[in-house]
Amino acid sequence: MPDPNGFLRYDRRLPARRPVPVRISDWREVYPPAGEELIREQATRCMDCGIPFCHDGCPLGNRIPDWNDLVRTGNWDAAVDSLHATNNFPEFTGRLCPAPCEAACVLGLGGQQPVTIKQVEVEIADAAVARDGLRPRPASVSTGRSVAVVGSGPAGLAAAQQLARAGHTVTVYERDDAIGGLLRYGIPDFKLEKQHIDKRLAQLTAEGVRFRTGVDVGVDVTAEQLRAEHDAVLLACGALQGRDTPETPGRPLRGVHQAMAHLVAANRVVAAAGDGKPAPATLPDGTPIDAAGKHVVIIGGGDTAADCLGVAHRQGAAGVHQLDLYPEPPTERDAARDPWPTWPWVLRNYPAHEEGGERVFAVAVQEFVDDGTGQVRAVRIAEVTVEKVDGRRIVTALPGSEREIPADLVLLAIGFEGTEEQPLLAQFGVTRNGRGAIDSGPDWQATDGVFVAGDMHRGASLIVWAIAEGRAAAAAIHTYLGGVGDLPAPVDPARQPLAAR
Ligand SMILES: Cc1cc2nc3c(=O)[nH]c(=O)nc-3n(C[C@H](O)[C@H](O)[C@H](O)COP(=O)(O)OP(=O)(O)OC[C@H]3O[C@@H](n4cnc5c(N)ncnc54)[C@H](O)[C@@H]3O)c2cc1C
Ligand code: SF4
Repeated sequence: MPDPNGFLRYDRRLPARRPVPVRISDWREVYPPAGEELIREQATRCMDCGIPFCHDGCPLGNRIPDWNDLVRTGNWDAAVDSLHATNNFPEFTGRLCPAPCEAACVLGLGGQQPVTIKQVEVEIADAAVARDGLRPRPASVSTGRSVAVVGSGPAGLAAAQQLARAGHTVTVYERDDAIGGLLRYGIPDFKLEKQHIDKRLAQLTAEGVRFRTGVDVGVDVTAEQLRAEHDAVLLACGALQGRDTPETPGRPLRGVHQAMAHLVAANRVVAAAGDGKPAPATLPDGTPIDAAGKHVVIIGGGDTAADCLGVAHRQGAAGVHQLDLYPEPPTERDAARDPWPTWPWVLRNYPAHEEGGERVFAVAVQEFVDDGTGQVRAVRIAEVTVEKVDGRRIVTALPGSEREIPADLVLLAIGFEGTEEQPLLAQFGVTRNGRGAIDSGPDWQATDGVFVAGDMHRGASLIVWAIAEGRAAAAAIHTYLGGVGDLPAPVDPARQPLAAR
């Protein structure tokens, strides 16, 4: 029986982040381990409210009150099992999830701070590694059926693990040189050290999953070949088509790049450096894209922009501005706009914001300014208002508000326009919808024997949704292949985050 008064005795506390001057001099994770005493105290704040809305907030349906109580009582092995029953990769979500579960925690109703669910999750996940090194759970019987998974992000990997454990032969095809999708070269090491991916891959390999890197499906191997070699195909190719701003004057100037170009280049040199000092980052054609000594302007206000900010400081930027089109959000939930337990529009301060830089809200870039040689030297911005009219976004510049911000490196982190247009789509006979995503039927099939999951299906989203969709698509594939029994399916293709109706 959980402690119903724990939240009255203990305030919400997170472990201290590593000091800024220390952490921006390396690429290690920002958070040190919390320590057992703190985590057991924080798990005690979960009051077993009876109707745990955190379950609905979490797309995976993680059994949060159960494992909170197991941690409170020091029953770590059972907590590990309970968490893995719903989540293949809690070491990813525990580090990276924005935790919609915490926005839905019942403590938030009474003006209390929510339970530190995500922190408890990561400590359980790390306990699993420390206790038995992620013991493989290979299937005892093979079904003789074979599945191709295209794309090795969290959606593809979750599906691959579920299907392999159910006895199917699974091959994951990845066009990149390493497995992990955005976790590998999109998200920087200071949020997720890559050792966590490698440990999981060792487990998946021991469970029989085969990995083929450097294979661009649709180019190096055709859809027809995959269909001939496998009984079902899962497409989990992500939503990596970066939004651009071709109409803004000066966009072709040198020094103006997509944010992902910057992140991938930086993450690759960190991966190559191991524990040594990374070399300056460059694009594949050798063009420098390193922030060292530069005035950096990041356009956008989300995860990608914050990751560019953290990378720019670690590379030694002279200064960084982060520009957001929208006004500064409130620090507290506006209950009229976003009632509990929905995800509120509030100011989100990532650890990267603590490390420096200036955030500028309610502005739009009017021009990337040329230094006379074809290289950007500044961005000209204007203060703006943003309105929604008939579902369309209308941005109005305030007359006389224009000014310049110096910029040697400009990074566009203004979102994604769905999955990339690539040969694989036509070969499999699927087309992008109006949002650039691939639709599926209620059984996750996009077309006969071809299933779709993760960002490719949902549009750019979150790791927790990618894992949930990967698990659900695996369940549908298992049924399609005539597998015995049911696999868990935490979401259906139409499921949306909690919203006020
Ligand atoms: C910079 C950045 C930071 C983020 N930070 C967070 C965060 O902190 N928390 C969070 O929850 N979410 C975050 N996200 C979102 C999260 O990373 C994604 O929602 C998630 O990775 C989607 O998983 P996925 O498996 O659907 O696709 P992806 O992770 O995008 O993986 C798709 C894979 O498919 C491969 N592929 C594509 N086409 C082919 C082909 N033809 N043949 C073979 N392989 C192919 C790609 O190379 C890629 O490896 C972030 C996203 C970005 C861009
Ligand atoms: S995966 Fe995300 S939403 Fe689910 S329990 Fe963990 S932090 Fe919360």
